[in-house]
Amino acid sequence: MSLRNEFAISKITMQSKSNPDFGKIEFTQSKRAKNINVRILKDGLRVALPRRATEADAMRFIDSVRERIIRKQEKLKKSEGENNLLLHENSRLQTLTFAVEIRRTERENVHFRMKNAVLTIEFPQTADCEDEKMQAVFWNGINYFLRKEAKRVLPERVRILAGENGFSYAQVKIRSSKSRWGSCSRGKNINLSFYLMLLPQHLVDYVILHELCHTKEMNHSPKFWQWMDKTTNGKAKILRTELKNQPLQPPQRGGF
Ligand SMILES: [Zn+2]
Repeated sequence: MSLRNEFAISKITMQSKSNPDFGKIEFTQSKRAKNINVRILKDGLRVALPRRATEADAMRFIDSVRERIIRKQEKLKKSEGENNLLLHENSRLQTLTFAVEIRRTERENVHFRMKNAVLTIEFPQTADCEDEKMQAVFWNGINYFLRKEAKRVLPERVRILAGENGFSYAQVKIRSSKSRWGSCSRGKNINLSFYLMLLPQHLVDYVILHELCHTKEMNHSPKFWQWMDKTTNGKAKILRTELKNQPLQPPQRGGF
């Protein structure tokens, strides 16, 4: 018997049952299936049964690979949280300095146009917008503009916040890091991810202040948090929580 994420077969839905461990289980009978096929979804299972197999057979199989299924479902739920930047037709994404709009048109290729702080992405009628490759094309284009805009506005914002709060630093570099929003070296060089452009202004400022406070304290000690509170009107911990709860949060690897 096989356990797969995908299967394409002609099938008739028999019935679905709700299961406390796996969610909704939908059974289908398939003439073409030679084995019991289980497609794992984040909130359920789709089970294709070959002609002679029964639901009880399927449940026995499912129970025998229970741990694997649960692990896979957890992974799917997690990746959904990370991947909530899936762009749909007509979806509108607001970045710090421009909006992104996606439209289906008569064009044969994907086309990007930036005008009046709106990046319009047009894609062909025939394309599957949610296809992984199409999403990659969209994001390549969007990232180009995110980086360009980040280079235009973030170093200036660092300069202003440093001036207002009496910090000094060496240089600001714009990176493409997805694992951390920013970092600060011992030489007081500040690195910022261009993905910051996907956050609202007050959280961008929080990240910049976080890195600027590292020019005083190269750790996350109580002294560091005193600096943070001083520069955020006592809101450091609230802002930290807000940043952590951002749906656009890049996967964390230390950092904040
Ligand atoms: Zn830090």
